[in-house]
Formats: sequence, structure tokens, C-alpha cells
Amino acid sequence: MQNKMKPGTMCVQAGWTPKKGESRVLPIFQSTTFKYETSEQMARLFDLEDSGYFYSRLQNPTVDAVGSKIAALEGGVGAVMTSSGQAANFYAIFNICQAGDHFVSASTIYGGTYNLFSVTMKKLGIDVTFVDADASEEEIQAAFRPNTKALFGETISNPSVNVLDLEKFVRIAHKNGVPVIVDNTFATPVNCRPIEWGVDIVTHSTTKYMDGHAVAVGGAVIDSGNFDWEAYHDKFTCLTEPDDSYHGLVYTKAFGKAAYITKMVAQVMRDLGAMMAPENAFLLNLGLETLHLRMPRHCENAQKVAEYLEAHPMVEWVNFCGLPSSKYNALANKYLPNGACGVLAFGIKGSKEDAIRFMDTLKLIAIVTHVADARSCILHPASHTHRQLTDEQLIEAGVAPDLMRLSVGIEDVEDIIADLEQAFQTLG
Ligand SMILES: *Cc1c(COP(=O)(O)O)cnc(C)c1O
Repeated sequence: MQNKMKPGTMCVQAGWTPKKGESRVLPIFQSTTFKYETSEQMARLFDLEDSGYFYSRLQNPTVDAVGSKIAALEGGVGAVMTSSGQAANFYAIFNICQAGDHFVSASTIYGGTYNLFSVTMKKLGIDVTFVDADASEEEIQAAFRPNTKALFGETISNPSVNVLDLEKFVRIAHKNGVPVIVDNTFATPVNCRPIEWGVDIVTHSTTKYMDGHAVAVGGAVIDSGNFDWEAYHDKFTCLTEPDDSYHGLVYTKAFGKAAYITKMVAQVMRDLGAMMAPENAFLLNLGLETLHLRMPRHCENAQKVAEYLEAHPMVEWVNFCGLPSSKYNALANKYLPNGACGVLAFGIKGSKEDAIRFMDTLKLIAIVTHVADARSCILHPASHTHRQLTDEQLIEAGVAPDLMRLSVGIEDVEDIIADLEQAFQTLG
């Protein structure tokens, strides 16, 4: 029944369907543990022979309800909710990569993910090659090796707001027998559902638009259930061969289409424990209930702000895929026909110091290390989120030294523009 609902209805209703006399609102199951009648019942859960709750590090009813809603919105077979978006992207790769393996990633990705891939995962013996996501199929193909296990990108990159050619990535990955993993944080499933374009695994920092009110850090991994792991049996033995930590259980045999996502709970979450807390899941769910209302307003406001900035004599450049002048306008029209997101990037004429002075003069638009919530905010990645990157890495990540990332909120757009205008006047 849930799969027949439209996205707007799923935002409000999916995941929690109370029965007679049960709570109308998703309850917070603030409990670490769950009771059973016999020792045998509990033993079957540990062997993955029955499904049920036993310990909230693995599963919790509140967290699972929100995971079901997000899986329904993305059109996947299941989701794992994590304590952060960082954990979600780490889990998505680590679930199928181990020491000695390699994956390919777009270079234009969130700074935290770039560090995770280029430094921390390398320490675990998992190697990455970064590619220009706009490069030709042949150029991206050249990054693949026999031990490559995945191809990663962001639907709309943070902070450069480039749009990914999803079908191109899917073609390249599938030709090489590996899944495509796409971080869909900025688009949200309201504006783009990557699985419909052939993407295998979707990740989210739910901290951003999904929560939408900047109250809880969280993440999600959604499995489409479409990747045929058994077709590449020898490449994905972590799913197709017995798991010693479950008495020789084989995930593809026991769970079919849900092999990848079940392994993530049963093994990666069990051992690493970056689970979402029930109370954070409850707060996230409140945000999701209005996601379909907030996203169009973010897009509409951002479009007006982008047009204002593009026409402003003190602005050097604007990158917003909704502008016809954007290099990504055609990709946006294809993959994001209802709007992209509320985030745009721009640079003003003058020095880096002018950019900093401009930001310091803003009143309504706040300087915060956050993006994609109801309140407008701004950040200068080269001095904030990306300050650990070298100039060369900044350019590779699509972050010009003068780039300011403006996250347009859902306030009245006239007030947002008025705030920008008074800051320009102060500069001028
Ligand atoms: C913020 C962000 C992340 C990291 O998420 P956290 O919830 O902050 O850990 C990952 N990917 C993208 C695209 C992001 O914007």
C-alpha cells in the first residue's frame, strides 16, 4: 500500500501505521532493550532466524519507522539510519570494501566525505581515486581497477552545487560490475529519486533538509535491492560467501534483494555502533512530515536570490543550476525538473577580505557551519568547512577560494534579498 502513495503523502504518513488504540503519533521507544518469553526466542533473533527487536544498537522501533519512511520515499527495499551523514557514507562503502579494495569517487563532494575517503579510509587500506564527475566516460573508466568495488558521487555537490549526470555514472559503474552509491542530501527524494535512474545505493545526511530545522545530526543508507551481487560472486564475497560471525550465513542466500542492507545492520552496525538515537529519529520524522512543503519554497526563494545576485554589479559569478546560464542547467532540467535545492554558490568582486567583510555585515543571514535548514545561512568553505584542504585540493573539490555558499531558507524572500543588498551597500 505504501508504494502506491505519492511522495507528499509518504512524507506525512509512511513508516508508522498505528493499529486500534495505538498512538497516532510515532512514539519514542526510549528503551535499550526488548523482552522475550523464552531463551529460545532470543536465540533465534541472534541467529537472524526471526526478526524482532532485542537491542537498540541494532534496531529500535522508532528509528525503524523513520527508516521505512525514507526507504519508501527513495523507492528502496530498506534503510539503515545512522548517527550522522558521515557514518552513512562510511557504512555505505565499508559494507562492501575491505583492506586491499578500491573505489572511485567524484572529486566534487562534501569536504567531510573527501577527508573520510582520502585520509581515514586509506588508513584502513581502502584506496580511492577521485575523478572529475564532468569528464567523459572514457576518462572516468580509466580510474577503474580489478579491485574496484563502487562508484560514488553526490546528486548535487556540496558546496559547489554541481549536478551529477546520474545515468552516465550508472552506465560506467554497471559496465564494470560495481554498484553506484549516490549521496542525495541536497536534492532530497522530493526533488530527485536516484534509484529511478538506476542508482543502487542512496545515502543522506538527514541533518540537512530532511530534518530541516537544524535540531538533530543523522544519516541514512537506502538499498535499492537492484544490484545483482551474485552476478559478481567473487568480487562481493562479503555478501555471497559465509559470514563467520553468523555461523556461516550467506547474506545473498538468506536475504535476497535485502542482502546489502541486512549485512549493514547485522555486521557493520553491530560492530561499529553508529546508530541513530530514538529521540533524534522522532525529531527527524517531524521534519520529514513537511519536507514536500519546504523544498518547493527553498527552490523558489533560491531561484529569486540567484537571479538577483546574477544581475548585481558587485557579483563576479553565481553557480545555481536553476539559472539558464549555469553549466548544469540541462542536467538540472533532466534530473531535477521540480527544482534542485535552496543552496547556491557565488563569488563577489574584490578580495577574500571583501568576501569576509560582506558576510560579517549580513544580519538576517547567519554565519553558521550548517546548510539546508529553514533559516538562511552562509559559509565561506575555504576558511571554514574546507580549511584543511590545500589550494589544489580546493580546486579539485570544485571550491573556488572566493566561493561563498548561501543556503536560502524559507523566510520571505524579499527580506533575504534586502539583507544581501544592505551588505553590498556597506561594501560599496
Ligand atoms: C553534511 C553532509 C554530509 C555529512 O553529514 P553529517 O550529518 O554532518 O555527518 C555528507 N554529505 C553531504 C552532501 C552533506 O551535505
